[in-house]
Amino acid sequence: MDLTDIEALEARFNGELQACADDRALTALHDAYLSRKRGHIGEIMRQLPQVDPSVRGAVGQRANALKRRVEEAIEKRRAELAEAAQQAIVDLVDVTLPGIRPRRGFIHPISQTRREICRIFMQMGYSIEDGPELDTEYYNFEAANIPRDHPARDAQDSFYVTDDLLLRTHTTPVQIHAMERRKPPLRIIAPGRVFRRDATDATHTPMFFQVEGLVVGKGISFAHLRGTLQTFAHMMFGPDVKLRLRPSYFPFVEPGAEVDISCFLCKGNGCRVCKDSGWIEILGAGMVHPALFDRVGYDRKEVTGFAFGMGIDRITLLKHGIEDTRLFFENDYRFLSQFRS
Ligand SMILES: [Zn+2]
Repeated sequence: MDLTDIEALEARFNGELQACADDRALTALHDAYLSRKRGHIGEIMRQLPQVDPSVRGAVGQRANALKRRVEEAIEKRRAELAEAAQQAIVDLVDVTLPGIRPRRGFIHPISQTRREICRIFMQMGYSIEDGPELDTEYYNFEAANIPRDHPARDAQDSFYVTDDLLLRTHTTPVQIHAMERRKPPLRIIAPGRVFRRDATDATHTPMFFQVEGLVVGKGISFAHLRGTLQTFAHMMFGPDVKLRLRPSYFPFVEPGAEVDISCFLCKGNGCRVCKDSGWIEILGAGMVHPALFDRVGYDRKEVTGFAFGMGIDRITLLKHGIEDTRLFFENDYRFLSQFRS
């Protein structure tokens, strides 16, 4: 063996390298030349002791140089192939085209209304109170002063889970829990889901959303209630709406009132939404019945309070001029996406 053999091997390698079209072929070529046991260069190294001593040094040096060149050439070719593959993809795909925008979620219209109501009352210094959706008959009815013979207590109208446990029919039990836990003064709102055994129609669903408010303290009067609701109505429906209170009865307040606002759609002139009356009923309210204070250990001679409650679904319907509350629960994206904020 002499230098010409090594030159011949190098020429052979160069030819084979050019023929390599992919990574797998390069790996095979790498093994064929550089594998310690089977490689061509390894073979030269093994034969070195038999080479004529006068050229042995030169042959060894050339063999080592060839080994480095083979390593470098294979790596270089590998990089070239990778770049070519990348370019092939770029040629195929127009990477400057805009991508497909993923559909982003948004807040459900009822939640938007709930957040807006909460925000208004939080600005007035109220804190948000939460409570269980499943509660006892005591908290849902008795502590709220709803007598035993009241139709709401009928199993026909409420979802009883056991004889004593039911899905709350209003958020009033949250108020009771809050009063039991804390001493007055108290200023809370309780938003949440409530459940009634109503047949589903355009204005009724067996599950809907309410928010109730409660203020208890020394010297709280009906004037405070009216002022609070007036402020709320202005912030929620606009500065022009007027408030009207009509005497009404709710077991947990005395006196009680139903609260109307002047129709914000027709400015009181009469339209479909206000049924040509110029007024829309939005909530019920009143002064907390002293019997509630007795049950939670508040001194009825020391404190007074007011409470109010409204349907979040109903207010959402009114605000958007929608006639059927079922639309909010059918989850039809085409309908809901109109309320993307
Ligand atoms: Zn109207």
